[in-house]
Amino acid sequence: SAYSQEIREAIRTVPNWPEPGVMFRDIMPLLQRRDIFRKLIDSFVHRYQNMQLDAVAAIDARGFILGAPLAYELGLSLVPVRKKGKLPFDTVTQEYDLEYGSASIELHTDAFAAGDRVLVMDDLIATGGTMLAACELVRQLQAEVVEVSAIIDLPDLGGSDKLRAAGFDVYAVCE
Ligand code: IMP
Repeated sequence: SAYSQEIREAIRTVPNWPEPGVMFRDIMPLLQRRDIFRKLIDSFVHRYQNMQLDAVAAIDARGFILGAPLAYELGLSLVPVRKKGKLPFDTVTQEYDLEYGSASIELHTDAFAAGDRVLVMDDLIATGGTMLAACELVRQLQAEVVEVSAIIDLPDLGGSDKLRAAGFDVYAVCE
């Protein structure tokens, strides 16, 4: 659509960052375009306004930028999914693989009520490892993942397929 084309054109590709061979998709120019940033959030609002959600689980750190205005506008709880070691209270932790090594994300044990309907939000899906780890944490707290949502999916890396194979609905504005 014209809309997803506009979003796509506002994303900058930075070659060889953070390491040689990587084409980094940079959403900062999109956020700076006030008209496009607004349209982006409005489109998420439109998509999720009738899904009876309770909370947005927003992934550290660019997921926060999207999840906060969405949760505010829809009147939902905002639950930051944080990198390991940032949350002060009792936590659940999920480790996931990176290209070299691993990383961990965490949630507070009281982040959700049992049965809460949750949207998991990040800027981009690559291998899907981050999203999958976040979904596992949501489930561990007896809440329900209604959908995982991002601006960008990189389908060649197989992340969205992996998430769908694990039973999660996946939405991305563009590929
Ligand atoms: P995955 O776990 O391999 O799917 O990687 C997705 C995570 O890494 C998300 O939290 C993204 O913010 C980040 N990420 C990976 N590649 C990019 C990129 O090209 N642009 C922006 N974020 C990226």
